[in-house]
Amino acid sequence: MKNNSEQIKIAVCGHIDHGKSTLIGRLLLDTGSLPEDKIKDLTRIAKDFDEETQLAYLTDQLKEERERNITIETTQIFLKTKKRPYCLIDTPGHLEFIKNMLSGASQAEAALLVVDITEGIQDQTRRHAYLLRFLSLQHIIVIVNKMDVVAYSQEKFQSIENKITELLKNVGLKPQLIIPVSAKLGENICRSSKNIKWYRGPFLTQAMDAIPSNLTPKTSLHDLRLPIQDIYNIEGERIIVGRIAAGRLREGQNVVILPSGTQCKIKAIKSFQQTIKSAAIEENVGLTLMADIPGLQCGNVICAGENPPKNSIRFRGNLIWLHANALTIGQNLKLHCATQTLPCTVTKITERIDPKTLTILENDAQCISENQAGIVKFELLNPALIEKHSAVTELGRFSIENDHGLLGAGTVLENYV
Ligand code: GDP
Repeated sequence: MKNNSEQIKIAVCGHIDHGKSTLIGRLLLDTGSLPEDKIKDLTRIAKDFDEETQLAYLTDQLKEERERNITIETTQIFLKTKKRPYCLIDTPGHLEFIKNMLSGASQAEAALLVVDITEGIQDQTRRHAYLLRFLSLQHIIVIVNKMDVVAYSQEKFQSIENKITELLKNVGLKPQLIIPVSAKLGENICRSSKNIKWYRGPFLTQAMDAIPSNLTPKTSLHDLRLPIQDIYNIEGERIIVGRIAAGRLREGQNVVILPSGTQCKIKAIKSFQQTIKSAAIEENVGLTLMADIPGLQCGNVICAGENPPKNSIRFRGNLIWLHANALTIGQNLKLHCATQTLPCTVTKITERIDPKTLTILENDAQCISENQAGIVKFELLNPALIEKHSAVTELGRFSIENDHGLLGAGTVLENYV
């Protein structure tokens, strides 16, 4: 998508089977945003090109893509209305994939929370609501889906509308809008529905177009931060790839690579197979360095050479704990921050918090139980670059995992070098 500055990123969340993929497929179809290769695929599979087949095919593709991406990243889908481009971040529904949701929501400015009218609020709807609050995502549009199944009943909608408003209120959120839709039939998605005349609000793309731009500044930093995602060896050349988390990247720029502190110079920058002179925050780039740096690896962060940041050894963060075994003082954990994996120890639990009410349950606690939040001090085993969440979103957000999956997630409030 060309115009990145205008683009709004929206996390799509909700309980499994409530219709996220169908909704995204429908948005792609009805806004005419399908990429060309998908259109070719569609022509191939559906001779008569009927809409239902197209939608089913797209939905399957989205699901497949999601499954393939489970351990890597959330799926990003690009679409465009007449007003501006969007990036939808598809977040899987299962608990063990909340990490993906977190990394998805970390880039999102707004969220769509999909609720199936026949099933109502489910476990995952609740958890996602807490997490949206926790991630400070304030602009939330609730999609009450599958209205066709309940014959577009206003009564049923109102009942669920009240329940959702209450749920969100309990976690400290207020939805911008609650829209009754049928993703499958395209009602109230890109056009208003004749079957839902009692609803007077905007349909989904109108509501999306009304989202204010620059809801959440991604960073207050102008200096370059580029966490290395991968390093490829192509024809003897080392190509480093990553997404810019802060500042600008320029050809010939002096950089410092953390945590080692090695100084270097940017040789060339590539984006979509073209050589470019510079790139800005949020752009995915490939680059080469003037010198071959031994030990350079995924997780290192390329930083501006002027005014370079320092590695941190400790930090204070707020977190939500999602595992049945409580988090305890002295526990050793593996923390993921941007593309880094950081072993660390819990040294203090300053506050234990009820995430539903956001009230402090205990000061100076010994542990944090499942689905509770807290303010925690960590000590890193090896010094590394982390930043305050308010300074660089991407380097100020972390998830905690063990070999079996996600344990918790949080943000950096204060770091100590
Ligand atoms: P996801 O797991 O949240 O991505 O859910 P899917 O998009 O795969 O939808 C789950 C099931 O609900 C599928 O069988 C869809 O065809 C069906 N579905 C989704 N939206 C609608 C809708 O608006 N109306 C009806 N009747 N079925 C729907």
